[in-house]
Amino acid sequence: MVAVNMKCRHCQQSMGVIEDEDRVYDLIGQQPFALDIVQLNDEGEVSVQLICEHCEEILAQNPNLFENDTFIH
Ligand SMILES: [Zn+2]
Repeated sequence: MVAVNMKCRHCQQSMGVIEDEDRVYDLIGQQPFALDIVQLNDEGEVSVQLICEHCEEILAQNPNLFENDTFIH
């Protein structure tokens, strides 16, 4: 099984590593942007782009920030 690195998609802060694949799918299911949040890098590491609590709070207060989300690509 592959360990999955969780990162905040907004501030790039590491949110830990998941080793349970089922847990990964649970998390993905909870995210508003399920597409392209799972990324595979050149070393074969899988990372999931999530939203940390800090950014979630900011975005909840400033919903228009979501419009600037496309810079992630
Ligand atoms: Zn963040």
